[in-house]
Amino acid sequence: MFFERSVKDYINIDPLQTGSKLTDDAKKVLLEWGDGYSICDYCTGKLEEISKPPIKRFAEELLEFLDCDCVRFTTGAREGKFVVMHSLSREYPDKKYVVVDANAHYSTILSAERAGLKILKVENSGYPEYKVNVEKYKEILESRSDILLVVLTYPDGNYGNLPDAKRVSEFCKREEVPLLLNCAYSIGRMPVSLRDIGADFAVASGHKSMASSGPVGLLCFSDEYKKVIAKQSKYKKGKEVEFLGCSARGVPLLTLMASFDHVKERVKKWEKEVEKARWFSEEMEKMEIRQLGEKPHNHDLMFFESEVLYDISTRVKKGRYFLYKELKKRRIHGIKPGLTKNFKLSTYLVPKEDLKIVLEAFEEIISTYS
Ligand SMILES: *Cc1c(COP(=O)(O)O)cnc(C)c1O
Repeated sequence: MFFERSVKDYINIDPLQTGSKLTDDAKKVLLEWGDGYSICDYCTGKLEEISKPPIKRFAEELLEFLDCDCVRFTTGAREGKFVVMHSLSREYPDKKYVVVDANAHYSTILSAERAGLKILKVENSGYPEYKVNVEKYKEILESRSDILLVVLTYPDGNYGNLPDAKRVSEFCKREEVPLLLNCAYSIGRMPVSLRDIGADFAVASGHKSMASSGPVGLLCFSDEYKKVIAKQSKYKKGKEVEFLGCSARGVPLLTLMASFDHVKERVKKWEKEVEKARWFSEEMEKMEIRQLGEKPHNHDLMFFESEVLYDISTRVKKGRYFLYKELKKRRIHGIKPGLTKNFKLSTYLVPKEDLKIVLEAFEEIISTYS
């Protein structure tokens, strides 16, 4: 049975998908290695050590790419966060709190919940920028001694705000609390150096930002935490407990690997992507569709607010689905059905010509219904 995907030739501005479109190499690999456990043909017991296909070399190249000491494959960013929280909580049972920013992804909260940890939140500035006040970390970290971990969302998946991670890492270092960066929306899109930022851990999402089918992700960490994260089984030699012996054992990992050359090149063009996002935001604002979050913006993921579109939705027959339907008619995919007042989109790797079509669509839709 074959299912066709209806939006496959559309202009895609879905924030979940702009960074995860497969490269041609990844598509080929997907077919060739799609059979279950084909990745294990020549495995000698550890995923990161497989040399055919060259996973071992890939893992080594990732260390250079991310400027960190260790890497493990996971099934996603969230699984990486859980591994860090769970393993640290076992090591330091007296420390009960995870400090998260107010823009944290729900999976950060669930990871903490699953690991039996409590949460302390650092508020954001609220409407319209929703910026995380990084100076607040100093206060919180100095105020208590039972903080296990700080998780900073870099950037967050709602507004695309990029907080000053280096500043947070300074406070963490001073109080000797480890810092985990959630890079689901950054690693694979923009340059990230763990050493430069001074983070102890980072997680990445292959199916969000690394041109991979997923589910697959990365957990990167410093040597200092190797014993905790990569704890060896007492019973099964060579197997790491937190990863249940093996993690992303299949074709998702191979699509990640096949796209890596492309990903290495595209992060070098990050400045151009930011420039394009800012241009798009300015054009939207000319139509009174306001960009919330940091301004000028530093990321391709943007959150918009539109009274005009909301107002139309209250009057027309299709109601709040009118925008989705109008965009679909123009073969534009990515704004969630039913949203009009607030919606997010991403301009990442979308050609400027296509973005012009998107802008014209908004213009037409507004003038048709006004
Ligand atoms: C998408 C997203 C995630 C989830 O990533 P998975 O790899 O699917 O677990 C986590 N955090 C942020 C900020 C995200 O945007």
